[in-house]
Formats: sequence, structure tokens, C-alpha cells
Amino acid sequence: MNRLVLNSESLNKVLEDKTISRQDVIDIYQNATKDPNELFSTAQNLREKFKKDTVTFSKKAFFNIVNLCKDTCSYCTYKAEPGEEKLSLMSKQQISELLQLAKKYRCVEALFVTGEQPEQRYQEARDWLKENGFSTTAEYLIHASELALENGLFPHTNAGNLNFEELRELKKTNVSMGVMLENISERLTQRDMPHYLAASKRPKARLEVLENSGKLGIPMTTGILVGIGETIEEIIDSILAIKQLHQKYGNIQEVILQNFQPKPDTKMKDSPSADENYFKTIVALSRIIMPEMNIQIPPNLSPKSYQSFLSVGINDWGGISPLTPDFVNPEFAWPEINKVDENSKNAGFNLKCRFPVYPEFFSFISKELRDKISIIEDKEGLVKEEYWR
Ligand code: SF4
Repeated sequence: MNRLVLNSESLNKVLEDKTISRQDVIDIYQNATKDPNELFSTAQNLREKFKKDTVTFSKKAFFNIVNLCKDTCSYCTYKAEPGEEKLSLMSKQQISELLQLAKKYRCVEALFVTGEQPEQRYQEARDWLKENGFSTTAEYLIHASELALENGLFPHTNAGNLNFEELRELKKTNVSMGVMLENISERLTQRDMPHYLAASKRPKARLEVLENSGKLGIPMTTGILVGIGETIEEIIDSILAIKQLHQKYGNIQEVILQNFQPKPDTKMKDSPSADENYFKTIVALSRIIMPEMNIQIPPNLSPKSYQSFLSVGINDWGGISPLTPDFVNPEFAWPEINKVDENSKNAGFNLKCRFPVYPEFFSFISKELRDKISIIEDKEGLVKEEYWR
């Protein structure tokens, strides 16, 4: 049997709702390196079948709560050291002020981001927590999340590897949470590899957080960083691991596919950006592996071509902020929401604003949170147009 026939057979299996194996996916990928069209059109058909002509985003404000971090990933420019200009240690007052501003801009999501357990490594972080009346970053996040709700925003916390208890507490106020798997490869944690100095990125540690979120029934956002020196098998295994978690707990609400972009002040500054065709192939493969999943790419990381990803399987742009920078990718400004709207329309899609929790996962959240959502919710479970426009 030649490979092209096998490719068609594997793709037909997907369209017929039959399970595809790891080897099928590898074969589909290898064929796509010669001619990706069949893969792309299958991904597009699946996207159309499950997501129609809607593309969503979340209107957010990015709260850079603390960017000290006990780990060091070779690609990260978010992390700061004490004394650096970019150091962020937000006070309660600053959080309140930004919440009020976000409300004025009619943002829906308060995205709370921190480095990995900064208080374990830095006296500055311990002092900052003490000044604000807390002993751990997680305690502070619980407080910040309560403040967000009081101000009419919905918190979504991404603070790395939170433990079971911390997740359980944050579930009370957060309508969803996030932690990137990045990649399931142990090889990427070895010497000279991107996760060598990041214990929190060990696949076992990340999977444990995702498992705990599943046990707790937290709508969870996770994802993969594409183009950091991984092999195609490692990418495929990472997507399959996410699929497996979702089959077990049903709580993975979306998968972010983030294309690597080198940052000038990092160890990987001379590594090339993820190749766009390779990235598109990974996006399409993700749709094939998880036909019903919400699949997101950040539009600011593909500024010239993001709309073309609508034809390879994505259905979400993630959080876009009209007032704060993307502190993880500070050199890539978010496009204006109007522009994203126009580009989505030109590609044949309707841009709609969602909550940080997708409608399919409303049953996972408490009645109190659900009631708050219903105030500005339309009949599809998305944000009423007159609220966000
Ligand atoms: S990517 Fe996250 S864990 Fe890695 S250094 Fe940056 S802040 Fe720390």
C-alpha cells in the first residue's frame, strides 16, 4: 500500500468518526510534508462540522501579578530578576485599579499570571507577599480572584504548577484555569534543552496538575509550545496525552498551540521561529486528533497571517486585551479587536466574544459563578454583543 493511499484512508477514518492510531497520525504528518492540502481540507471540514462559522476570543486584561520565577526556561522573557526594569510585583491597590480600568474597557476576563512559586526562591517575593498580608502566591491569587468577581470580571488564573488544595480553593472563584503542558518530552528537560532548568516543566509534574484539575472538575486550558527543538513524534505524543486526559476527565476546554518566537534576552535568542507551514500542519493534526476540541492560536504571534489559520482548523483567538500588553510576548502587540473582527469576516467567519469558560463547560462551575455569567450572556452562552463591542 503506498503512503498516499494510507493517508487518505487515515483521514477518512477521522471523517467517519473512527479512532486513529499514533502511527496513523505520523503517516498523515509525513504525507502532509509532501502535500498538506488533504490534511488541511480535512481539518477544515471537521472545524466546520463542529464549530460552524464562529471564531471566538476572550476580551481580557492581563494581570502580571508577579514575574519572579523559581525556574528558568531557555525561551522565556516573561521571568524577571530582582532589580530589573520589567520586574512586576502588583500591590492590592494596583490590582484594584487595573480591575476598574478593565471594567471601563468592558473586558470580561481578568487573566492572572505569575512565575512559578517565586516565594520559594526570592526574598523579594516573600517580602512582597508579607506586605500584602499573604504567605504564598496562591493565597494572593485567591484574594485577587475575589476582587475580580467583585468588580464584575471573571478570573482565569495561570500560575504554573499549583497543588491540589490550591486548585480546589481557586476553583471557587475562577471560571477556568490554565497550565501549558508545553511538551510531554523528557528529552526537552535534559542538559542544553529548553526545560533543563525548569523542574515545573517536567512532564510528570505538569501532567499531575492537569490530572488534579480533572479530578476537581476545573474547566482547563492547556497547550503546546511548537518549534522549541521537539521531534514530530514528541508533538504528536503531547497532543495525544492531552486527548487522553480529556477522555479521562472531560475537563480540557481548549488547547492553545503557540508558535515559538525567539526573544532577544534569552538563551534561545538565535533559534529560528517556528516555521509557519510546520505550525499549520501541527494545528491541522490537532484538529484531526481532537475533532471537537476548542483549538486556539494567539493572533499576535502570527501578525501577518493569523486569519489563514482559520482554514486549517482553529476556532479561537484566545485572550485579546484592549489595554494591557502580552507580558509573555511583549514584542508582539495584540491586534485591535476591530481588525481581528474584520480579518475574520473577510475569511468568512463571525467573531464572537466568549467567557473565559466555554459554554460546553458551564456545568463544571458553581451556581454563583453561573449566575454572574448569565447577566451578560447571549442565547449561545457567549457574551452579549452590546456588552463587549
Ligand atoms: S516560562 Fe514560566 S516557568 Fe519558565 S521561566 Fe518563564 S515564567 Fe518561569
